[in-house]
Parts: sequence; structure tokens; C-alpha cells
Amino acid sequence: MSVRVRYAPSPTGSPHVGNLRTAIYDWLLARKEGGQFLARLEDTDRTPERYRPEGIYEIEESLRFLGILPDEWWVSEGAVGPYVQSERLELYQKYAEQLMQTGHAYRCFCTRERLDAMRLEQQEKKQPTGYDRRCRSLTPEEVQANIDSGLTSVVRLAMPREGVTILKDVIRGNISYENRLQDDQVLVKTDGYPTYFLACAVDDHHMGITHILRGDDWLSSAPKLVQVFTALGWEPPLFAHPPLILGADKKKLSKRHGSTTFVDFINQGYLPEALFNFLVLLGWSAGDENKEILSIPEIIERFTLEGISEHPAIFDYDKLKWMNGHYIRASQPGRIIGMCIPYLIKAHLIADPPTPEELDYLRKVLPLEIDRMKLLSEAPELVSIFFKELRFPDGYDEKAIAKWLSADHVVRMLKKEITAFSALSDWTEANLEFETRQITEELGLEFAKVIHPTRVAATGKTVGPGLFETLEVLGRDRTLSRMQSVLDVLSTQTESGGHYLVN
Ligand code: GLU
Repeated sequence: MSVRVRYAPSPTGSPHVGNLRTAIYDWLLARKEGGQFLARLEDTDRTPERYRPEGIYEIEESLRFLGILPDEWWVSEGAVGPYVQSERLELYQKYAEQLMQTGHAYRCFCTRERLDAMRLEQQEKKQPTGYDRRCRSLTPEEVQANIDSGLTSVVRLAMPREGVTILKDVIRGNISYENRLQDDQVLVKTDGYPTYFLACAVDDHHMGITHILRGDDWLSSAPKLVQVFTALGWEPPLFAHPPLILGADKKKLSKRHGSTTFVDFINQGYLPEALFNFLVLLGWSAGDENKEILSIPEIIERFTLEGISEHPAIFDYDKLKWMNGHYIRASQPGRIIGMCIPYLIKAHLIADPPTPEELDYLRKVLPLEIDRMKLLSEAPELVSIFFKELRFPDGYDEKAIAKWLSADHVVRMLKKEITAFSALSDWTEANLEFETRQITEELGLEFAKVIHPTRVAATGKTVGPGLFETLEVLGRDRTLSRMQSVLDVLSTQTESGGHYLVN
């Protein structure tokens, strides 16, 4: 039988990185085994704070971004659709009836008030909370009478009172649960919508799912799901619960640690292959712990469900950034330029859409900064010195001015440089360096005493890519007008008897 796996997100908000990790594992298993990867929307929880249909598009975009398109899903449909649970209500209804007729489920008419009071009492007595099964013993006549008198009801699973339920988990082995400790789970709510337990079992059976991969928060309620399969006379699929994802402090990953929604990472400028590589390794290892950079074909080749650990995985934000930097450097510069454009437009450094001149300039500027870039969203800050209008002292770093532009030789140096650079017939890195070395000699200084103030005068900063390649890319006009603006201010200050001082 060919492997069929599904990613079953609920549209409760923006998808979490942990969910996408599970989706990647699903996809990998399908690709590895030559099977199919499905996605199904589990939208049966209609409570306003949990039903956020606008999150559906983010779910789709996240899968597209990672390049793990389902073979069958609500976007392209398939043979066993619809792939949206709210469009399959009749099917759940049919199986709820079947479960009631076979004695595996029953109608429960208990009111919210009664259930709340019961829970409170159980909590006060420090007893396990759960339904006391009062309606389980109603006769068919009593049930009918309740319905006739207009009472609302839910359908509950009649969990066996004895014995054990075995969960077959590929990662954790067989887990045994005592049935008497399990609650009689609600399967159909008062609004007629099924809960996860009924809808999931019905769909996984009808969609031919062979392996259920899902978050480990579902582990404790697993016997209830297994019992629904069994009560309907179906063999449950195999399960795999990848491990919990923790922050550096070993607490469950949450907003306190940093971003947790997948879309946040896309927006910060992580590359698809970096997120893919990083998320795969959160709980899975290729057998060689030291090998961290893995291509997708390599991962497919080595992937097995058994290789997933049951031990919690730590989400190391620094490692993800490092990995992203690696993939940025490994990319075609043109691809990175294209990916940086939206960030530069947003920062108003270039027009929307960029002009041909801006694109031309960007093709020269960005390669100078790619080595330092870890996130695409850092692009505006990294390239701003090439785009910003700089007029001394506006836009100049105050510390850089104090450190490098207050020395005695700076005015003389700038005068010589401006004269020599203006006379260059070819504005090239090599010519600029040659002239600067000449001037250094004429001034009888160390090279460092010249290049640092020159960099500050031309870029407003102390750090950046190689000075002469920076000047070449900046171009004659920008470089000279910036240096001249420094000279103008400094020469008035020195004429009036002092160095340029920062207020
Ligand atoms: N809709 C469930 C969730 O989002 C799916 C769990 C499962 O994959 O079975 O957690």
C-alpha cells in the first residue's frame, strides 16, 4: 500500500513553525516512499476566537514558500475531497449515527451549567475532571423524550470502561493507555459540527491515510482517537508524534523566545531552503550530528520516521540566522537582489517599482554586502550608505566623526584626495587606491590614518565593505560631493581655530 500522509491545519490563526515542521516531515515521507502528501483543512471549531479563516491563505503561502505543495488539497482538489471539513458534515453525521446505533456513542443532554458545576466539584475534591457519564445510561425512550421536548444534545464516545488502548507510534513505540482513565469525549457538538476526534478518524479513513504525523500535544488524547477508529470497525493508521519544540530556557517555544509564526520568519527574510533545513533538523538527524547543511535531495534520501527523536528539540534562533547567512552566500546574487527589493522599497531607498538606474546600481551595491547579510530584512541598513543623501554632518555617525575626522591632517588629506580623485579619468577601485597611497606617502602617515577618515567622509560610517570597491560603486559624483561637504565644514572650523566638535 502506498504511503499517504496529510497535513491537517486548523485555521485558528497564523500557522506556527512547529506545524510546518510536521508538514515537512509529511512531505518528506511521501517523497521518500513514492506516496502522496495531502492537506486538509480542519475548520470545525467555529468559536469566534478560534476560527480565523484569513489564516487559510497564510497556511497555503507557507507550504508554497517551502516548496512542499500537497498532491491533493483544497486548492487543487483530488479524488477523495472535499478537503475542507466544514464541507463534509453529512459524512460525520452518518458515522455519528452509526456509532450511536452500535452502542459506541450516545446522546448527552447535560447542560453547560451542570458540566461546569461538576468540574468545579471535581477540582475541589482534587479528583480527575471528566464527564460522569450520566447520559450514557439513558434508555432509547428517555432519549426520544428529551429530543421531543426540544433539549439540545451532544454526541459522546462511549469509551470502554476496561482494558487498554494501544497507540502504535513509529517514534515512541507502542504506548498503552488505561481505558477507565479516559473521558467520554464529545464527538458532535451542539452546533452539529464534529470535534477533531470524529472528523479526523472519518477523514483519515476515507482519505486512505497510512500515517498520522501530528504535534505531541495530541499524545495524551490519542486513545480516544484510536477508539473512534476501532468503534467504526477501521484499523487506525500508524502514528508519529514528533517532539516538542523548546526555547533556549527549555520551556515550550512561545512568543517570549522570539517569532513563532512561520509567516514572521518569511517576513524577516529567511530563505525557503534555510527554513526547510533548519526545521527538518529540529528533532530529526541524518545520522551525522555534525552535518548541518543538507540539501533537499540529500534529506529525502536519508529521511526516515524512525530517525525522528522523541526528545524535545531546542529552537536555536542564532543557528537559524547562521544557516540563513550560509544560504544567502550560496545563492546567485541576482536571486538575493530580487528578494531584497521589497525591503528596499519599504525603506524608501528605491522607488516602487525600481527604476532601471536603481536596479543597475543595486546589482553593483548588493554583492558588496552579501557576505555580511544574515537576513534579507537587513538589506536596507546594510546598503543605506549607498542610497542615502549624505551631507556632513547630517547622516554621519557621531562616534565615527569624533574618532576619525578630528585629526589635524584630515583637512589636508581631503583637499588632496578631492583634487586627485576629480582628475581621475577612470573611476576604478585600482586607480582610487593608487591615488590614496600616493597621498598617504605625501602626508607621511600610516595608511590606516588615511583610509579610516576617507571611509567616514565618503560613507558616514566606520564599517563597510572594502573602501576602494565601495568608492568605485558609490561613483564619482556621490563620493566627491560627500567628501566636499565634510571639507567645507571642517575647513571653516579649523580656520576659526578649532577641530570639528560633536555637540
Ligand atoms: N487540526 C489539528 C491541529 O491543527 C490536526 C492534528 C492532526 O494532524 O491530526 O492541531
